[in-house]
Amino acid sequence: MITFQELGLNQDLLNAITDLGFTKPSEVQEKAIPALLNEERDLVALAQTGTGKTAAFGFPMLQKIDVNSRTTQGLILSPTRELCLQITNELKLYGKYCKGLNVVAVYGGASITEQAKQIKKGAQIIVATPGRMKDMISRKLVDISKIEYSVLDEADEMLNMGFYEDITDILSYTPEDKSTWLFSATMPKEVAAIARKFMYDPIEITVGNRNESTNQVSHEYYLVNGRDRYLALKRLADANPDIFSVIFCRTKRDTQKVAEKLVEDGYSAGALHGDLSQNQRDLVMKAFRNKQIQMLVATDVAARGIDVDDITHVINYQLPDEIETYTHRSGRTGRAGKTGVSMVIVAKSEVRKIKSIERIIKKQFEKKDMPSGMEICE
Ligand code: ADP
Ligand code: MG
Repeated sequence: MITFQELGLNQDLLNAITDLGFTKPSEVQEKAIPALLNEERDLVALAQTGTGKTAAFGFPMLQKIDVNSRTTQGLILSPTRELCLQITNELKLYGKYCKGLNVVAVYGGASITEQAKQIKKGAQIIVATPGRMKDMISRKLVDISKIEYSVLDEADEMLNMGFYEDITDILSYTPEDKSTWLFSATMPKEVAAIARKFMYDPIEITVGNRNESTNQVSHEYYLVNGRDRYLALKRLADANPDIFSVIFCRTKRDTQKVAEKLVEDGYSAGALHGDLSQNQRDLVMKAFRNKQIQMLVATDVAARGIDVDDITHVINYQLPDEIETYTHRSGRTGRAGKTGVSMVIVAKSEVRKIKSIERIIKKQFEKKDMPSGMEICE
């Protein structure tokens, strides 16, 4: 068994790894970390969700940047604000013993002046969504002319979301001789094209099957009358007594209501949404992590920090407004090499959304009958 130490990581990072409880590198880490530490080269890595990509680029970047300098040396582009925050938090954990390290998240929906202020204090690493990053550049609130390492995380997602031009534009403000590390779950031709355009003779790493997205997750949908959603949810829970699940609702109100009803009906459930106090949220997350709660009913926003490995089922009580969000929901299960099921409770009027999602995830849904096939099914 190969250890993190053997990959060439320094003591500050090894200490953080010990604190995190990581015992050995994942496959993508084992391949990417030594390659990135030992060579100043570009890299293309294909690996599915949950394989530990953040650390695969995070550790080498943290080791290579100069924390004594206030210059921005690393730029990580990621498709959504949730991922942006998640990566930032992970990097802060990985770099907790790197004294002087400053990682700043740059994303839409939050104060741009506040983000600019943080950067001005001296951020060695910026983690950004392409839209907000472009905005920052055009307002001259950030200087990325000294970037040494750039990461395109979830490149397929970013291109799916239409960020090609923004990415091209942003990278044109970075030096020619930087290294670019591209991470993606799949390699559609758009990603191959961007790799050809921005990278020179990259190191190539593939973990698992090419062109298969999140293949530890199977996707199912259940067609019901809209008003019977809750009944359907109970039926799914009854049919899976060992369920350990996140249930996604669209609004805070529905989230609270569904969780309360489940508890009233004798299920082990809790609610997680933005109207709860931080303390309430921490308590429910702790109970979920400790498996005192089997079903966590959550909004997308509140669930962004959830990072629990053995979730067996993701249940879409309602489909998200933005179909891209589905990827993030279903990515909560099937992590760390385990298998998972993503279920969608869907009304007739929404079935076409399933087709759109299939195009995005590049996988087929299985249409399933409700477990005991009663009148709630159409
Ligand atoms: P990806 O970006 O490939 O979807 P992440 O980087 O988000 O995956 O990692 C998934 C989870 O696995 C995170 O909770 C992370 O802390 C954890 N993880 C990463 N590397 C290891 C490791 N070597 N050992 C144990 N857990 C790990
Ligand atoms: Mg990731």
